[in-house]
Amino acid sequence: MNENQGAKLKVIDYHGFLSAEDYENMKLKLPDIMEIPAGLDSDRNTLQDYIIKIKNDKDNKFIRFYGLHTQEPYTTKMKDGEFVTGEDLETGRMYESLVRDGKLWKDEKWVEEFIQFIVKRTEFINKETGNDHGLKYIEVHPPKTDLLNDKPKNFFDYYEIFIRAIHQKLGEDVEIFMENSNGSDHLAFSKYKGINEYAKKMREIKDRTGLKSYIALDIPLLLKSHNLKCKERDCQYSKIEKEFINIFTNLRESRDLIRSVHLWGYNGGNPHNGDLNSLFYSNENRNNDEISKEAEDLKNALLKNLKELLDDGKERYLLLELNNSYAEQRENIIKDLRGNGFQIM
Ligand SMILES: [Zn+2]
Repeated sequence: MNENQGAKLKVIDYHGFLSAEDYENMKLKLPDIMEIPAGLDSDRNTLQDYIIKIKNDKDNKFIRFYGLHTQEPYTTKMKDGEFVTGEDLETGRMYESLVRDGKLWKDEKWVEEFIQFIVKRTEFINKETGNDHGLKYIEVHPPKTDLLNDKPKNFFDYYEIFIRAIHQKLGEDVEIFMENSNGSDHLAFSKYKGINEYAKKMREIKDRTGLKSYIALDIPLLLKSHNLKCKERDCQYSKIEKEFINIFTNLRESRDLIRSVHLWGYNGGNPHNGDLNSLFYSNENRNNDEISKEAEDLKNALLKNLKELLDDGKERYLLLELNNSYAEQRENIIKDLRGNGFQIM
């Protein structure tokens, strides 16, 4: 295998769910980066819990760095202050108003506040952990599609301001990822065409300004956007497989910008709660032990196509986005990846 080959994925500790022992069981070396949900300090941990983990593990090289995963927009259900806890209450409140009602990237004022939030939070974490260069990446989410072509300024103008400010204030090495959306609420960058449009714009911005930004490719969200699932026992294997080939071949033009991959599955219809065996069922009540041959084959066809997309020898981040420790499910995903030729770093 030459150096331009191989699909290499580096595991990121996701929200601190796993222990050193869990990693050993999966035959994985300990990750040195942890993703922190940055936005509203959420359900399980407060910001301080993540900080403690980074701090304690600093010396034995487990979790020295972190990535900030900012929040998706929300429109309903959450009440004022519901998820805002922890030490920097002020920035938490500020962020809550930023993500409410799906207003992401709506104007220049919004972007300025978003920058302020990220900078404040990063400074807070760095101060608490004693590591000024702990931040590796920031993950952000797409605007609504109508913001893409707004006049006189649109999303890309605001995004450029954002990237420039983050690099100036927090360092040029901090990578910025845009995660694809599932297209609901008219969110942009959901299907392969939208992702490729984003990549094209990012190349234009880079050529003009030198500013760089990347893609975090969430595979289950991509499948959802393209509506690729089995209908009960009727799997339409060949139709879905053809779609994989179409989607992943087309995504090759964005390959150089894909720096992070998200994988997760469902449990009883709940997202972020299962392994990849659950991806091709529409029946929410189906157990994983009832997996049909077609669904199993589709899972492998998906991973084969993903591997071909990423087979350029470059190392990318892998986030197993499960909302709990779920050691068995994580192990299954790693097994599936290894079984389909990925190199897990
Ligand atoms: Zn994701």
